[in-house]
Amino acid sequence: MSFNDHPHRRFNPLTGEWVLVSPHRTKRPWQGQQEEPDRSARPRYDKGCYLCPGNERAGGEHNPEYTGTFVFTNDFAALLPEVPGLEPQDDDLLRAEPESGVCRVICFSPRHDLSIPRMTREQVTRVVDLWISEFRDLGARRDIGYVQIFENRGSVMGCSNPHPHGQIWATKSVPMIPGAETRCQAAHLEEKGECLLCRYLKRELSLGERIILENESFVVLVPFWAVWPYEVMLLPRRHMASIEEMDERERADLAEAMIRLGIRYDNLFQTSFPYSMGIHQRPTDGGDHPEWHFHFHYYPPLLRSASVRKFMVGYEMLGMPQRDITAEQAAATLRELSEIHYLDREQA
Ligand SMILES: [Zn+2]
Ligand SMILES: [Zn+2]
Ligand SMILES: [Zn+2]
Repeated sequence: MSFNDHPHRRFNPLTGEWVLVSPHRTKRPWQGQQEEPDRSARPRYDKGCYLCPGNERAGGEHNPEYTGTFVFTNDFAALLPEVPGLEPQDDDLLRAEPESGVCRVICFSPRHDLSIPRMTREQVTRVVDLWISEFRDLGARRDIGYVQIFENRGSVMGCSNPHPHGQIWATKSVPMIPGAETRCQAAHLEEKGECLLCRYLKRELSLGERIILENESFVVLVPFWAVWPYEVMLLPRRHMASIEEMDERERADLAEAMIRLGIRYDNLFQTSFPYSMGIHQRPTDGGDHPEWHFHFHYYPPLLRSASVRKFMVGYEMLGMPQRDITAEQAAATLRELSEIHYLDREQA
C-alpha cells in the first residue's frame, strides 16, 4: 500500500486517536481562487486597542507604558481562583465538579503591528522567558494542577484583537487532552522503557520526509498523524518534561525555530497565517512525570488559500477526523517555502 495513493487510517500514539487519510481525493480538479498577497498594514499603536501600552482595558485599569512583554490577569476570565464548593453529587448521570483556576494574558510586544514571525530572536526569547516564569509561579501553587499556555492568531480562530498576545489558562484539574497525553506517554514508558517522543523524534529524523526545519535544539515537523492540513509539532531534541528545564541556548533556539516556522506559514498563502498554537508539558500536580516530553502543537485551519479553510463537519463530527493531502505532502510544501517573509522580500 502506498500512503500517498490509497485511503488509510493513521494512529496518534500521543492521544490514542485515529485520523482517516484520503490522498486519492487530492487528484480531483480544483478551481482554486488566486488571491492577492495581504499587505494590509496595522498601525504601530492603536488608541482603541486594550492591549497597547498606556491604554485603558475593559475592566477600567490602564496598561503600563511597557516596552517588552506584559502580563496581566484577564479582566473577563473563564476561570476564577475561588469557587464555592458544589453540593455533593451522587448522581452518576448528571456529574459536575467545581473547577478553579487563573486566566492570564501575555502581550508579546508593545508594537500593535508585530507578531512572532516579524519579531527579532531576542524579542521572542523574552516571550519564552515570560512563559517559563509564569509556568513556574502558577505551577508552584497548590491549587494549580496544569498550566496551559497558548496563542490564538487571527480572527478566523476567534481572536478578537490583532495585537500580538497569547493566553495562559491554569486549572486545578488536568484538562482532557494533556490528560490523555499523560496516560499514553506513561503507558509507553512503562511498556518500552523509553520516552515515546524521544523514540518518535529519532524515527522522524532518520526518515526525514516529514521534517520542515531544525536547529541545534529543536525540530519542527508535520506529525505522521496530523489532522489539520498544515498541522505542525515543534519538539526539543533533549528529553525535557517542561519548558523550565531549557538552558539559555535552548530558549534562544526555541525562539528562532518559532520565527522560522512563522515566516514559512505566512509565506504559504501570503497572509498573516491564522492558527491556534500551544505548549503541552508535564502537569504541575506534584507528580514526577518522567514520561513527559514537552512540545508545541500548531493547528492552522487554512486548506488551499488565505480564505479557503478546512471545516470539521459531517463524518468528522460523527466518525473521526479526515484529511486529503497527506502529512508528507504538507511537509514537502512547508519545507520548500522561503524563510524570508513575503512582506520583507518586496521591500528588498
Ligand atoms: Zn495594540
Ligand atoms: Zn523524551
Ligand atoms: Zn501534545
